[in-house]
Amino acid sequence: MINHEIKIAFDEYDSLKDLDTADYDLCLEAATALKNSHSPYSKFRVGAALRLHSGRIIYGSNQENVAYPSGLCAERVALFYWGANHPDDPVEAMAVTAQTDEFMLSKPVTSCGSCLQVLAEVEKKQDKPIKIILYAGQGPVWVIKGIENQLPFLFFEERLTT
Ligand SMILES: [Zn+2]
Repeated sequence: MINHEIKIAFDEYDSLKDLDTADYDLCLEAATALKNSHSPYSKFRVGAALRLHSGRIIYGSNQENVAYPSGLCAERVALFYWGANHPDDPVEAMAVTAQTDEFMLSKPVTSCGSCLQVLAEVEKKQDKPIKIILYAGQGPVWVIKGIENQLPFLFFEERLTT
């Protein structure tokens, strides 16, 4: 028997103001994206903003549906829009934020497993890691570099992609 250990890492900042200008601005774009959240059922609004290599910003927000499984998370709305419209302009960073009137958010909201798997495929497609910036409310900001620090056991099979 061999015991393996995997180490993941992320940076925590006290507030948005501690980020560099580009990342700070991207967080504000995520807050803008959140305004178009369609979340009448969960009342949990999520916004995502992608910064592409060209500087273009792509917005996503969670889009729910009365047939619940038909909805989609903010991250995948943004990532699939990128794939459909700007696949040759690499994604450098993605900021994600969330709000709800139901309770206070005091720490960042992390992405669901499905969004992480989609993020993994985007990284593989563009062959470059993506910086993820997560924040909510007045809480700390988490900056995570690359999918391997979020989903070390991501599913990938090269023979299916060639
Ligand atoms: Zn998700």
